[in-house]
Amino acid sequence: MHSEIVDTLRCLGTHEDSWLVAAADVTEDRHIMRGQLGCPVCHARYPIERGIADFAAGALRPVALEGDGPGFEDDDAVKLAAMLDLTDAGGYVLLLGRWARLAAPLRALVPVMVLVANAPPDVLMGGGVSGLAIDGRVPVAAGSARAVALDDASTPLAASAIAAVRTGGREVGDASLALPADVALLARDDRHWVGTRESGAPLLQLVRSPG
Ligand SMILES: [Zn+2]
Repeated sequence: MHSEIVDTLRCLGTHEDSWLVAAADVTEDRHIMRGQLGCPVCHARYPIERGIADFAAGALRPVALEGDGPGFEDDDAVKLAAMLDLTDAGGYVLLLGRWARLAAPLRALVPVMVLVANAPPDVLMGGGVSGLAIDGRVPVAAGSARAVALDDASTPLAASAIAAVRTGGREVGDASLALPADVALLARDDRHWVGTRESGAPLLQLVRSPG
């Protein structure tokens, strides 16, 4: 869990949006590998182990996916960078599930922070890659991510993952995943779709005052 990513994390508690305070036991190159995050409002605690912050109360153990889905090829990180429109440095991208396998190759191409959620167990944290274990929603500030990639197991997380992306940011999903609300389709083939985040905010309504 990189210290820059800690700033974007938010408590899951049902109270006003709150950042989290990090306490590090083991740090490697600005990554908290072991420690914990604490909420100053409701005092919830989220432990960090192996660089992965646990927002699932230990309920989610990393498991190998059945058959592990389709593998990635050498140029898939290049394709992902293009689909996510990562043409410059800065900010962070969110990779859910199987997409976490491309975190390190993506980092080698573009110097962006990568936040992975529910990554396969062989994906290691550190070197600009931070991890989350989540089972309800993505615990980050709304509109804080540049882009997100969702795999076909991401359906329950899709709405909150899209809300994490800034307006105009890119979304990539496995073709089998339904296009989430607030995503405008840009392109689709037999493997993936690519979309862009529309404003989720309700349109301002002008009310004419009587008389
Ligand atoms: Zn809280």
